[in-house]
Amino acid sequence: MARPEFEDINPSTEEVIETYEGHETGEVIDAVEKADDAFDGWSDRSIEERESLLADVAEVLRDNTDEYAETMTREMGKPVSEARSEVEKCAWVCDYYAERAGEHLQDDRIGTEPGARTYVSYEPLGVVLAIMPWNFPFWQVFRFAVPYLTAGNVGILKHASNVPGCALAIEEVFDRAGYPDGVFTTVLAETDAVEPMLEHDAVRAVTLTGSNRAGSAVGETAGREIKKTVLELGGSDPFVVLDDADVDEAARVGARSRNLNSGQSCIAAKRFVVHQDVYEGFLERFVEEVEALNVGDPTDEDVDVGSQARGDLRDELHGQVRDSVEAGAEAVVGGEPLDREGYYYPPTVLTDVPDGCPASEEELFGPVAAVFRVSDEDEAIDRANDSPYGLGASIWTDDVERGERVAGRIKAGSTFVNELVKSDPRLPFGGVKKSGYGRELGRDGIREFTNRKTVWVQ
Ligand code: NAP
Repeated sequence: MARPEFEDINPSTEEVIETYEGHETGEVIDAVEKADDAFDGWSDRSIEERESLLADVAEVLRDNTDEYAETMTREMGKPVSEARSEVEKCAWVCDYYAERAGEHLQDDRIGTEPGARTYVSYEPLGVVLAIMPWNFPFWQVFRFAVPYLTAGNVGILKHASNVPGCALAIEEVFDRAGYPDGVFTTVLAETDAVEPMLEHDAVRAVTLTGSNRAGSAVGETAGREIKKTVLELGGSDPFVVLDDADVDEAARVGARSRNLNSGQSCIAAKRFVVHQDVYEGFLERFVEEVEALNVGDPTDEDVDVGSQARGDLRDELHGQVRDSVEAGAEAVVGGEPLDREGYYYPPTVLTDVPDGCPASEEELFGPVAAVFRVSDEDEAIDRANDSPYGLGASIWTDDVERGERVAGRIKAGSTFVNELVKSDPRLPFGGVKKSGYGRELGRDGIREFTNRKTVWVQ
């Protein structure tokens, strides 16, 4: 296979910033073998040693926040203020596991028979392959790497092709923090290199965050090779506004949730399911909030929404909006790509969205909100569940008991009452249905790629 090249295009200017030479398949396999060689030494270290290195990772991140944030913004168009927060969140996940990894991996004692000592221990598996997306190019990587490496695994990162600078910068973070060679490696590889890596005996597990298409391809190979997988896939999260909700607050938080990261977040609120009694009031306030967003150059500190990450993704999003409008939806705000240099798409609000069109059936991975009117709580729950996805859900009501009850009927990996859906190092994160399976973060996350070994001592 020829040596791949990765063209780094700044999506807010459409200029080629740099071209990176990638790794051939043979070099990728060498990296896997080097990681495998590093595994024994790394997993033999005590958990305290591995925890203590995380303080150094956090320090490197905090010392170089501006540089890493600028790299993200340049490669994928994220507003730079959000990019800085992303670096800080990566440092936070280090702080969290530096304190809690050992506790989460302690043996679980299980009483069985008199005279027997029985427990479950959590041992690392080996080389974990991570296939990651561009949308949170630092966070998605630290979210897997910090817990999995601290559990004693070693990692190979195959990042998205449009963020090679981020991929190399992250490898450098672990180098600078003093991780041994081979414990964390970035390969600049095309998707063709994934199958040979998965087929290699040394690779024991794979985690993929990305689209359903990629998840299904990787899951298929991993299934054939009998390799453990975690799939963190797409979402079309409902944001349910009940008749007793604080409409102002719901509109403010909903607009923020939908447009964070220029709308390119798996857990963004995408389908707004609003009780008819508050529909008009909510829509008016929501539209005001959306229209107040400042769209523009993501390097500008005051910008709320930057460009989309790639031209093809912007075009795909517009195709979904156009098809939804042709099917009968109304674009009350936005709805057309901005006529300017860069892959900009304006914050858009669709109402009267019919069943069967993209805005109701598919994930819209950009700043486009679909607003649905429902007549009661049961219809709200049905509408919320009427999606192939099940990542997160947000429910708005003045009555938190009612909120929890409604949340209990929604099929999603996480539910938030009177709060936007967000990831947090302390809490497990993942989906059901087409949003994938497995969990990252919290205690569940660090245990995902471990051998839960049963021990019986008589
Ligand atoms: P994507 O196109 O699926 O890419 C994700 C990663 O998978 C990239 O590294 C990509 O490499 C690789 N990939 C694509 N096709 C592959 C294949 N056939 N075999 C092996 N690897 C393959 O997704 P994206 O556009 O970057 O990200 C957007 C999607 O990710 C959205 O659906 C979003 O909801 C989802 N997402 C989910 C979560 C979550 O936690 N659940 C978080 C963030 C994003 P190339 O770049 O080289 O194609």
